Amino acid sequence: MGSQFRLIFYAPDSSTAQRAASQAFGRIEELNNILSDYRDGSEINRLSARSGTGEWVGVSPELFDVISASRQISQRTGGAFDITVGPVVQLWRRAMRRSYFPEQEAIRQARQSVGYRYIKLDAPQRKVLLLRKGMRLDVGGIGKGYAADEAVRVLREMGINSVLVDAGGDLTLGDPPPGQSGWRVEVSSGTNADSVQTLELSNVGIATSGASYRYLEHQGKRYSHIVDPRTGVGLLHHVRTTIIAPNGTLADALATALSVAGIDRGKKLLKRFPNVQVWLLETKGDRIRSWNTLPAPSSERN
Ligand code: ADP
Ligand code: MG
Repeated sequence: MGSQFRLIFYAPDSSTAQRAASQAFGRIEELNNILSDYRDGSEINRLSARSGTGEWVGVSPELFDVISASRQISQRTGGAFDITVGPVVQLWRRAMRRSYFPEQEAIRQARQSVGYRYIKLDAPQRKVLLLRKGMRLDVGGIGKGYAADEAVRVLREMGINSVLVDAGGDLTLGDPPPGQSGWRVEVSSGTNADSVQTLELSNVGIATSGASYRYLEHQGKRYSHIVDPRTGVGLLHHVRTTIIAPNGTLADALATALSVAGIDRGKKLLKRFPNVQVWLLETKGDRIRSWNTLPAPSSERN
């Protein structure tokens, strides 16, 4: 998934800790083999390769789980989050690497196989049908959070509950460290002008998405690696979105979704997600707007 994972947890002794760490990392590696779209042979790429054939493809429980969670989030975000953006993401990745702006025609073609409604699921048989030819599932916006949640689950099964999983900056937290009321987490809006908030948190997922470092510059405009599924174009407004949600999967996906939606649409979408907090910074031209529903900070610095 292109991210380094880090685990912090409290175990009764070091040999238990060793064993637990290798189980949790093993689980993350397993999920990477299934979900990575950088590996030709990954299960998700093999599934995408069969799009448009009319074939119902049997998949692993994990892949089915991620796809059905994604589809649900698509429905609840009006399609702002959509794992069928793969063909468009590929186009933008290539364009970013070689520094050119994709042709209108190429964007139009890629968009034809984008749409979460083209994913059909058969839960009892655990099968997936991808209706359109050229579809490519891309779980880059949810996989890290899912893997972090799974690592926490694996540790809990071993009786280890005080856990922090860091998936390249996105966190899933279990119970607090022993004797403490939470994990101290610093959240920042990413600008110098804005403050850093320190929160004490447990049993939540925290994720940040943003256009800050991966983008394509063309005629003075910056296009993000997060794309709007409706237009097939990288986001133009500069956003940085931090989400706190009941788990890492939802936090990861909503950070991407609300980046696409922006503040105005985001406010409407968030009503459908109880127990989710957001800190979104949006830049359009010279105008910077901030939307912050995070819990009152336990301390604040400027
Ligand atoms: P980051 O890579 O900064 O952690 P995200 O969690 O937002 O950011 O994930 C961005 C990735 O999600 C992209 O690289 C792409 O693979 C995928 N993606 C881009 N746009 C969307 C979208 N609208 N819906 C779902 N996934 C997306
Ligand atoms: Mg995300």
